[in-house]
Amino acid sequence: MKPKLNFEWLHACSGCEISMLNWGEQLLDLFDQVEIVHFPLLMDHKYGGQLGEGAPLSLPEADIGLVSGGVAHQEHLQVLQEMRKQCRTLIALGTCATHGGIPAMRNQWSTADTLHTVFTAGTVDKEISPSSAPAFLDRVYSIDEKVRVDVSLPGCPPQPQLIGAVIKALVNKDAFQLPQKSVCETCPTIREGKKKMAPVQRFLHNADYDRDQPVSEMQCLLEQGLVCMGPVTAGGCGGKDTPLCLQARVPCRGCYGPVQPGGNQLLDMMNALASNGIDHRALVDRKSLLRFSGAHGLLKPARKKN
Ligand code: SF4
Ligand code: SF4
Repeated sequence: MKPKLNFEWLHACSGCEISMLNWGEQLLDLFDQVEIVHFPLLMDHKYGGQLGEGAPLSLPEADIGLVSGGVAHQEHLQVLQEMRKQCRTLIALGTCATHGGIPAMRNQWSTADTLHTVFTAGTVDKEISPSSAPAFLDRVYSIDEKVRVDVSLPGCPPQPQLIGAVIKALVNKDAFQLPQKSVCETCPTIREGKKKMAPVQRFLHNADYDRDQPVSEMQCLLEQGLVCMGPVTAGGCGGKDTPLCLQARVPCRGCYGPVQPGGNQLLDMMNALASNGIDHRALVDRKSLLRFSGAHGLLKPARKKN
């Protein structure tokens, strides 16, 4: 009997699933080896019953479950708990699931402020009716804050090869190792040391490089004063090659989350700037360093001044 796979998405954009599709023909080989029993992107499944009769949520049993997206409201939580119950191995797929991702930027504001700004001020001038939308949680959570997670695959989105390799390894019961290095450790740019340090520049400035030269001839972007988050971001986005943003000659924005589980990209980056002789007070918006990893209680609403 083929191993069964469940896919689910919570507060997500479908980029992780699209990334998987980018694996191309190899995906067809994988799909020959497994049976997909639940995949909302591809298959219709109405959670309250096919006719909206309010039936209890029920998902099929599976050997492996992949969940993308963070947990923002009660329905996400129920679906996630059902996935955990039904899947022997649960994979957090993508940075929203592992660290909150872009949706967790909401954690800078209270739920009331978010609802007011996004829904009432932006659209209609009244409260969202509790019967028309699932109740918001107090903030956006990564899925490991709510259920046990067996494998964390960060990335916005994760590399298709990595998603495929992990699923294959689980299907074949092979050992696998996730990338352990930081983006910097896989970046080929020239580093000259502290004496060449430049003042911090806003991202509005382009890096200084010669387009006819390879990336390995370009000076490190952090040393050029651009806030490249390579030192504090988990590597793997470029596979065995140069990290993806560096291939495009732009700074790493931190989308694979912190290098170590439990890391704090804001604090780690402040340390990285300080140890490279850059005045961290020059940063205009420090909280933006948590743009991909604001779950785990790291991004919080500012205290209101009286
Ligand atoms: S800071 Fe950025 S440019 Fe410099 S080595 Fe690290 S990833 Fe490369
Ligand atoms: S270089 Fe950084 S921001 Fe760009 S894809 Fe890689 S981890 Fe993400």
